[in-house]
Amino acid sequence: MHQLTLAEIARGLADKKFSSEELTKVLLARIAQLDPQLNSFISLTEDLALSQAKAADARRANGESGALLGAPIAHKDLFCTQGIRTSCGSKMLDNFKAPYDATVVAKLAAAGAVTLGKTNMDEFAMGSANESSYYGAVKNPWNLEHVPGGSSGGSAAAVAARLLPAATGTDTGGSIRQPAALTNLTGLKPTYGRVSRWGMIAYASSLDQGGPMARTAEDCAILLQGMAGFDANDSTSIDEPVPDYSASLNGSLQGLRIGVPKEYFSAGLDPRIAELIHNSVKELEKLGAVIKEISLPNMQHAIPAYYVIAPAEASSNLSRFDGVRFGYRCENPVNLIDLYKRSRGEGFGPEVQRRIMVGAYALSAGYYDAYYLKAQKIRRLIKNDFMAAFNEVDIILGPTTPNPAWKLGAKNSDPVAAYLEDVYTITANLAGLPGLSMPAGFVDGLPVGVQLLAPYFQEGRLLNVAHQYQLHTDWHTRTPTGF
Ligand code: GLN
Repeated sequence: MHQLTLAEIARGLADKKFSSEELTKVLLARIAQLDPQLNSFISLTEDLALSQAKAADARRANGESGALLGAPIAHKDLFCTQGIRTSCGSKMLDNFKAPYDATVVAKLAAAGAVTLGKTNMDEFAMGSANESSYYGAVKNPWNLEHVPGGSSGGSAAAVAARLLPAATGTDTGGSIRQPAALTNLTGLKPTYGRVSRWGMIAYASSLDQGGPMARTAEDCAILLQGMAGFDANDSTSIDEPVPDYSASLNGSLQGLRIGVPKEYFSAGLDPRIAELIHNSVKELEKLGAVIKEISLPNMQHAIPAYYVIAPAEASSNLSRFDGVRFGYRCENPVNLIDLYKRSRGEGFGPEVQRRIMVGAYALSAGYYDAYYLKAQKIRRLIKNDFMAAFNEVDIILGPTTPNPAWKLGAKNSDPVAAYLEDVYTITANLAGLPGLSMPAGFVDGLPVGVQLLAPYFQEGRLLNVAHQYQLHTDWHTRTPTGF
């Protein structure tokens, strides 16, 4: 039963082959048995899951239907869940029980999804390896000595190991697409504003976006359908109608113009990944797509710009954690300044402290123009590059990551080495564009992802291309040994 996708679960529940309660029990037992190897969950919510499953079964018995009704999922532990610990992977929020549900959580619960638990993540979503979590590193089910990617590494590892069919993630600079690539999943970062950020603990507010992680594009369509939509509580939410994503899966790719940026195939890319990307291009050509070389000339500036803007916003967002209002408070403070200093010094881990310092520096009066303002200008140039490219093509295709999953600890002494792994993903966040990563093959037994980018609000087009590709390839069906 644990091999079923969301789409198959929906059919099985509709055909009364099994109940949501039965399925939930099977998956909870599987998590108890296998997750100790992976560390993909921070909290399990067994009681909530069983009551939601029973309620979903009752709704089906009453004639209700819906692709998510009774479907087991998990939430990255930065989505607020009422009365349940919402830790953001940090000691700072280890004792924090959210007083309300994030919009995404509430919407999925209303659609009948069953929450099995909260998944592990890099502290405050800062990282590309899921090694900065206060709750310990997550392991990649494809090789337990390797990282699963980050920051949504817990969601990725759990879904890849068939502990559950799908989970939510968030993507500020690649945290849905990169762990999806490194664990053989399909993951989609929606257009900025498509999915509400209300109740999603902020890292960098102008870049953060929640989205689905699953094994197939078909399942991402189902989960995104439940997540997307306007929310008056999020001032950057966009009031655009939500299309039927599942209905868009079967469009023909005949004549689809796919742009492949020449800058993507630079020296930093593992040549074995380059070859797999070229194979995926050939596959899409067979399905009728037309390939065109394009250029994104400002891509080389994306990492420096991102690693100014994201920490700048983080330093501002994280100022609310002061030991007074939320979360961790140090023991026996001697005065207010001591309370602030020690609560933050003891509550935040080293990567979060590094980013707060970088961000505060970039925003300080003397350096604002040189760093923050400059980075914002680069952001605009990157957006303009994409706008020009999308005048010529419908989709942009390239690798999701320059390398496959690295060994645990391999990049710990050099944070910049880890930052460079984000080179292909962060541009979509800087421009606010939707992006999807899907399985494209293996290097040394480790999964490789191909990334597709589309114009604003064209999530349906991304899902369509990925679904057609998955009808003709079987990379996404491969299961890690031992799971
Ligand atoms: N790796 C990037 C960072 O550390 C992106 C993280 C994310 O998307 N949340 O900032």
